[in-house]
Amino acid sequence: MSYDVDLFVIGGGSAGVRLSRMASGFGARVALAESGRLGGTCVNVGCVPKKLLVYGSEFRTELADMAGFGWHVEGVSHDWKKLFANKDAEIARLNTIYGRILERAGVVVHHGRARITDPHTVEVNGQRITAERIAVCTGGFPRRPQIPGGDLAITSDEAFELEACPKRVIVVGGGYIGLEFAGIFKGYGAEVTLVHHGRHVLRGFDQSVRERIEDEVRAHGIDLRTGSEIQRLSRTDEGIVAELSPRGVASDDLVLCEDPDRLVADVVLYAIGRVPATDGLGLDELGVERDRHGAIVVNGEYETSVPHILALGDIIAYPRLTPVALAQGMYVARKLYGPGSEAIRYDTVATAVFSQPNIGTVGLTEDEARGRCACVDVYESSFRPMKLTMTGRQEKTYMKILVDGDTDKVLGFHMIGPDAGEIIQGLAVALTCGVTKTQLDATIGIHPTAAEEFVTMRTRARRLDD
Ligand code: NDP
Repeated sequence: MSYDVDLFVIGGGSAGVRLSRMASGFGARVALAESGRLGGTCVNVGCVPKKLLVYGSEFRTELADMAGFGWHVEGVSHDWKKLFANKDAEIARLNTIYGRILERAGVVVHHGRARITDPHTVEVNGQRITAERIAVCTGGFPRRPQIPGGDLAITSDEAFELEACPKRVIVVGGGYIGLEFAGIFKGYGAEVTLVHHGRHVLRGFDQSVRERIEDEVRAHGIDLRTGSEIQRLSRTDEGIVAELSPRGVASDDLVLCEDPDRLVADVVLYAIGRVPATDGLGLDELGVERDRHGAIVVNGEYETSVPHILALGDIIAYPRLTPVALAQGMYVARKLYGPGSEAIRYDTVATAVFSQPNIGTVGLTEDEARGRCACVDVYESSFRPMKLTMTGRQEKTYMKILVDGDTDKVLGFHMIGPDAGEIIQGLAVALTCGVTKTQLDATIGIHPTAAEEFVTMRTRARRLDD
């Protein structure tokens, strides 16, 4: 049977754009449908605008630090509208670039919402297009709170459209987005309360990082309430009132909020995870399997339970990170239409949280390492960054290396501190190459940098071998 196209990609985000342009480059006939702006979450309501807002917000502490270096900084003010206009212009520029990349690659782009109407047919803007394969790359959207008054809250999507910087902000959720936005709002001058329902923020991260970032967040002036949750939201003359109460009063596992109380804010931002965007695609009718969280189930080749329908990016239950989506897009394009590809290595995917200070991490956490290795050596270092020694700021940089005590292989690197993401990226290469502690020790550092500490930690903090 002949089809209109070889591949129909639904969703023009990181995964969909990379897959379609590479597949087309290998000679496949490719069409792509996107109902919103090209670039998906990362470009429009994720990594890119977030990082731009983070950069801008960091100037507040930089300005304060400048005094220690002799600068007099007076009369500095901030123009939120200008910030947002410049951010929007940059995103529009990227949207255009994405469109041009697809056009040059020969991908036919349909601006509309697509639906799979039979196993090999996609309908978009009233047009039916047959395809040998269909790739679902529709990503996800922020989960909304299911509490009374929950509709008064915003999510990160709307945070990127705020017309002015709120004076009082409550951020709910101790994950990536919660920590990043708490820092952003604080930097632009808001009073920020960060509410997290668990004992520590950043579940899944190394325990030392989880605990130490909380100290830094508090030192940064953010009112962090762990073990707390909001029962209801209501609008009053004062603002949005959040009724906060300790969570799981019977649980020993939680640090309870000692003084359950009432918080008032101008904006309440929920950052409690993201939901795969699978509705309205026609997947149930086709019998495409999903897990209990709504993510599409795939095998190692990113094939769904209907093998000619593929799924990649945030719609599947793999690390929901842009570089992972790009890697999946490249893998599938090379495997189906190009020279083939090695499987993606997920064990050395590095990640950064652009909190203030940043977090960077790659490899196993201490708990994971203990679970997998009979003997784990822990090296750690905590110090005040040189740049801050002439300022009043007490922020500490923290670094940890985990090493298999039997084989000398490094198992994980973790860092809190300026440019942690930049530093950990290089160490992720080393980890992917199987670096040993001896090789780290043999590496000459660059002085004076923070990064050199990763090659100069000689004294083991502890050995875990029980
Ligand atoms: P995360 O999963 O990172 O964090 C969600 C947070 O909300 C967790 O702390 C979670 O706590 C908490 N939570 C979950 N349910 C509730 C609830 N009902 N009430 C209160 N708190 C709740 O999701 P985000 O929304 O922050 O980000 C989504 C994803 O986007 C990330 O996981 C990441 O994959 C990606 N991302 C990556 C970034 C980066 O690379 N820098 C930046 C931003 C997003 P607990 O886990 O303890 O249950």
